[in-house]
Amino acid sequence: MDEDAASIPGPSPGAGRRVAVVGGGPAGLFAAETLRAAGCAVDVYEAKGSVGRKFLVAGKGGLNLTHSDPPELFASRYRERAGEVGRWLSGFDADGLREWAAGLGVPTFVGSSGRVFPEDLKAAPLLRGWVRRLRAEGVGIHVHHRWTGWSDAGALRFATPDGEVEVAADATLLALGGGSWPQLGSDGAWQDLLREAGIDVAPLQPANCGFDVDWSPHFVARHAGTPLKPVVAHWRASDGSGRSLQGECVVSEHGIEGSLVYAISAVLRERIARDGHAVLELDLAPGRDLARLRGELARPRGKRSVTEHLRRQAGLDGVKAGLLREVLGAGAMHDPDAVAAAAKRLPLRLRAPRPLAEAISSAGGLRLEALDEGLMLRARPGTFAAGEMLDWEAPTGGYLLTACFASGKLAAGGILRRFAQHG
Ligand SMILES: Cc1cc2nc3c(=O)[nH]c(=O)nc-3n(C[C@H](O)[C@H](O)[C@H](O)COP(=O)(O)OP(=O)(O)OC[C@H]3O[C@@H](n4cnc5c(N)ncnc54)[C@H](O)[C@@H]3O)c2cc1C
Repeated sequence: MDEDAASIPGPSPGAGRRVAVVGGGPAGLFAAETLRAAGCAVDVYEAKGSVGRKFLVAGKGGLNLTHSDPPELFASRYRERAGEVGRWLSGFDADGLREWAAGLGVPTFVGSSGRVFPEDLKAAPLLRGWVRRLRAEGVGIHVHHRWTGWSDAGALRFATPDGEVEVAADATLLALGGGSWPQLGSDGAWQDLLREAGIDVAPLQPANCGFDVDWSPHFVARHAGTPLKPVVAHWRASDGSGRSLQGECVVSEHGIEGSLVYAISAVLRERIARDGHAVLELDLAPGRDLARLRGELARPRGKRSVTEHLRRQAGLDGVKAGLLREVLGAGAMHDPDAVAAAAKRLPLRLRAPRPLAEAISSAGGLRLEALDEGLMLRARPGTFAAGEMLDWEAPTGGYLLTACFASGKLAAGGILRRFAQHG
């Protein structure tokens, strides 16, 4: 039993209570599990034909479940929500998540980057085992149930293949996800439903996303889909201080994407919202300082082409040489000083974030100020919310799933506390 439930007098704080969990992602399923363990009758209602579709997709290419950062650093990943999410994590953290996975027969390991993965890197065995256990514990899972709002009497309304269904419960948990990859079920349609009910929702925005750059058709034709590695990104943080980070990104048809860009996407998105564009500077030659690069590029080129000279002298080939030409223009490519300076700080003008549907996750959502400490909607007592639909964001690295689990656990505790307080 969880700490919140354990602090409530009585053997089963949820006994005789019915909870409707709307949304079968990790936040909803984890809340359902916690509530069931405390004796509640729990039903999960999911719009799609199966639960956990985004969790499954997150497992493609390696499920990054959580991170081994120490607690303070971990909480700082949630930026301006570090205080609130840090509090959620004090009730359920990365270690808790690893123990939970181990309990389902899926041990985890810490990768070289500090990220935590299941040993087999996959999400499917974890999800399969989890759903099996939930069903065995008596959690009802109702797929093809799309929540469409509340009836006048306050019941939950669902659109199902058999028509509309109304459900009354002693408490409701909304765990409807953000708005990225809407084909997986979380399409953000709940924003209007909650706004109509007078609840404060910050518009969903792309997080961990790529950005548009106005590439020439020639550059796109030659280089779209090519990884850029290693590179160092330089940018200005919101307080104006200079920051840098080494990593990898990918030139895309529309601009630039990949883990390095995702890691700084929040600040880039905010800069674009403020100034209409953002400048990201890339060091294409992290292993060489400017003086060395200048010297290398100033050597006689002889009959070699500029491209061959860049490759031989400075290891700048393929997409890196293409980028230099794209940004500097063909004429400046003959000026070794200009090329060296650009190779160390190539300014890319980012025009807009890519659409939310393409992003890994969402920023914005149900404002935390609209919720009490147990994640109950202040404007709608008895209705709680958890997961990515809440207004927080974090980079990739396992921080997204960890906060979803932690908020699911906290909201379940809030529901149990309410039951205890209201007899
Ligand atoms: C490609 C990709 C890779 C990712 N990789 C990682 C990773 O490695 N590590 C990490 O930490 N995070 C990762 N994430 C993010 C992570 O998957 C999400 O943050 C997490 O799944 C959110 O959990 P949730 O329960 O809040 O919402 P979701 O998982 O989105 O679940 C919400 C559920 O609610 C359902 N729903 C929505 N509206 C309704 C409605 N009206 N009625 C009924 N049901 C509804 C949806 O169908 C969905 O099943 C990745 C995301 C993507 C897209």
